[in-house]
Amino acid sequence: MPIATVNPATGETLKTYQAMDEQEIERRLELAEATFRTYRTTGFAERARLLNRAADLLEEDQEEIGRVVTTEMGKPIRQARAEAVKCAKAMRWYAGHAEELLADETPADADVRDSGASRVVVRYRPLGPVLAVMPWNFPLWQVVRFAAPALMAGNVGLLKHASNVPQTALYLEDLFHRAGFPEGCFQTLLIGSAAVDDVLRDERVKAATLTGSEPAGRAVASTAGEMIKKTVLELGGSDPFVVMPSADLDRAARVAVTARCQNTGQSCIAAKRFIVHDDVHDAFAERFVAGMKALRVGDPMDEETEVGPLSSERGRADLEELVDDAVRGGATVLCGGERPDGPGWYYPPTVLSGITREMRIHREEAFGPVATLYRAADLDEAVLIANDSPFGLSSNVWTGDEAEADRFIRDLEAGGVFFNGMTASHPAFPFGGVKRSGYGRELSGHGIREFCNITTVWHG
Ligand code: NDP
Repeated sequence: MPIATVNPATGETLKTYQAMDEQEIERRLELAEATFRTYRTTGFAERARLLNRAADLLEEDQEEIGRVVTTEMGKPIRQARAEAVKCAKAMRWYAGHAEELLADETPADADVRDSGASRVVVRYRPLGPVLAVMPWNFPLWQVVRFAAPALMAGNVGLLKHASNVPQTALYLEDLFHRAGFPEGCFQTLLIGSAAVDDVLRDERVKAATLTGSEPAGRAVASTAGEMIKKTVLELGGSDPFVVMPSADLDRAARVAVTARCQNTGQSCIAAKRFIVHDDVHDAFAERFVAGMKALRVGDPMDEETEVGPLSSERGRADLEELVDDAVRGGATVLCGGERPDGPGWYYPPTVLSGITREMRIHREEAFGPVATLYRAADLDEAVLIANDSPFGLSSNVWTGDEAEADRFIRDLEAGGVFFNGMTASHPAFPFGGVKRSGYGRELSGHGIREFCNITTVWHG
């Protein structure tokens, strides 16, 4: 895949970049290591000052960088600006909380005495240069979610961004530089995916985090495993959205549309499988389909647009194949299902019912505005369908019944259970999955501690 900006709304190649050569990569790895040696000794106050400055700059830049993001990956412009603002918020959150999240811990007195020590503390020290392999779907957020805690912990970052968002990748390097971070604290490596392996094997790179597809995750985790390097993986999801009879159906259906189609459906935590109790299935389906049909699909630069083009021709073809496979297997198309004529990689909001276990869409991630609808006879069947997926990122449940809620918390195989609302990430809450959705956590105290050397300091 060339490193290039190709406008998904038109298919036009706007700018192509030369991948960095071996010498340039070497120079950057050297710089990362050298910078780490001094940056690791800076205090939280200094790091926070720089990160808050980056947040201010990003917020000021929201219009300009929003347009770059929309041009590179096609998300509606309002969502692109909102992404920049969300990143600024996460930066400020980590700037304000990192010191407390990484404060020394003291084991219980009895355990300290039992070990024969006079004093014991557990200290969180940085690891060194961390490689971040990131996707295009939230090209600012995915990176900031890694960079803010990494920089606050005293690590330095090396970004290998997706090949279709090079301008955003270069913007991020420039942003941290303008904020005053020492050169080498955050660098973009303009490289293709084939060059990742060598970087990961380099002794100077201490750990890696990857957000993206399963094959990419497997490749990075295998090499990291061979090199005994820590990884965090945030891979795909096919989150269930369960609607029980006690739910507020109007609200559930309204939120369902947003949960499925935000970011043109290209989100790992988008609700993808809608599992509805028999008693309310038809009433929910009617409202949901009406909402999906009413979405405004069009030019992502238009302020009114709610659903833009998919990010790439390949992405649309993959989605179409999933829909076609389901239809061949007997699924019913309740709306959408056919690509429009004309330029750009558009695909309409689509709802499929009559899904069976044999269909690919039942077990694969539909990365676009395509929803699958399931009917469940009772709570047990709803849980069964929800868990019948290789993924386990997050989940959504609509119910007004506390006892039911407890059952879902106990039984759903996912890294999150969101009641009467849609899954959304927040800097203060851990984010990540189980099963093939990956491992480790981002955000919150759990996220910042992933790339720390958790050190026992024992005094005799
Ligand atoms: P990829 O997983 O291929 O891309 C994500 C990142 O990984 C990119 O930076 C990519 O680089 C890199 N990468 C890809 N293959 C390797 C490899 N073998 N070794 C090292 N790095 C690699 O996602 P796609 O864009 O191809 O999307 C395919 C599917 O992945 C989607 O349809 C969706 O199901 C899922 N996905 C999930 C995301 C999530 O948020 N969980 C985000 C994006 C995709 P390069 O761009 O140069 O190939």
